[in-house]
Amino acid sequence: ISFMIEPIQQLSHMSTQFQEGITGFQRFMEIMNLKPAIENKPNAITLSEVRGAIEFRQVSFRYENHLHHVLVNLSLRVQPGEYVALVGPSGAGKTTLCSLIPRFYDVTNGAVLLDGIDVRDMDLQSLRHHIGIVQQDVYLFAGTVMENIRYGNPAASDDEIIMAAKRAHAHDFIMSLPNGYHSEIGQRGVKLSGGQKQRLSIARVFLKNPPVLILDEATSALDNRSERVVKESLESLAKGRTTLVIAHRLSTIRNAQRIVVLTEDGIVEQGTHDVLLAQDGAYARLYSMQFELQV
Ligand code: ADP
Ligand code: MG
Repeated sequence: ISFMIEPIQQLSHMSTQFQEGITGFQRFMEIMNLKPAIENKPNAITLSEVRGAIEFRQVSFRYENHLHHVLVNLSLRVQPGEYVALVGPSGAGKTTLCSLIPRFYDVTNGAVLLDGIDVRDMDLQSLRHHIGIVQQDVYLFAGTVMENIRYGNPAASDDEIIMAAKRAHAHDFIMSLPNGYHSEIGQRGVKLSGGQKQRLSIARVFLKNPPVLILDEATSALDNRSERVVKESLESLAKGRTTLVIAHRLSTIRNAQRIVVLTEDGIVEQGTHDVLLAQDGAYARLYSMQFELQV
């Protein structure tokens, strides 16, 4: 199995939730003789049980070497098991906000807390162990389907991998491949559709079984049928986990317990779909602009 090149590129967006990728990245940084920005504190805390309460406490953030603050004094609490949709115009900072939880970046001011503990005080590997990420760009490596799913939990048995694939609605298409779970993916192997890749990445997260889930929907490139299957997989994945979804699909937004509207002015509204529509404010405007055509 090769984790060499891709994870380094991928780290710039948020897909590398895997330790192998981080290690590869750190090695890369050492070679480049740069100090990695994100480090463990001495005596960093390792949490075994995480309930999944997330708090952004007066968070401000700007990217290094950028003058402009993406987030200013933002506060938000998400309860364990809650399903929250983040909506807002492109560039408002939704992806940035979510990337602060696994510490792909550290806050400039304020704090992000998981179960009341500042994520900067936690052991990085332990922190990321509790967070699952599904996003549009799926990182698959050259290897078998089974190896690719096992990436979510290297200690998993074959049976556990098959169970995870079933829960992600991936089992049937995997079984239809020439060598089933042992089919090779990649240039020399089978070609998978966007929806199939998504389901493999969802299977990984089922296998990882984290209490916290981040879904970055991006504007869906999937066709209607595979979008529906992926959506069902994601809904079942989200059950019982704290879920922050950067939502573009109306169906995802409607199902959310709470919708948080993030604009360049910060969080401007929060509530359910019906309540926010009735308010006739930012959400209502966004809704008529962005979502109406997608129903
Ligand atoms: P959203 O997800 O809401 O579309 P993002 O969090 O991706 O917004 O981006 C928020 C702002 O931060 C944008 O102005 C974007 O250009 C900027 N930005 C995003 N990623 C980086 C980065 N790695 N370095 C510098 N600026 C960035
Ligand atoms: Mg984004």
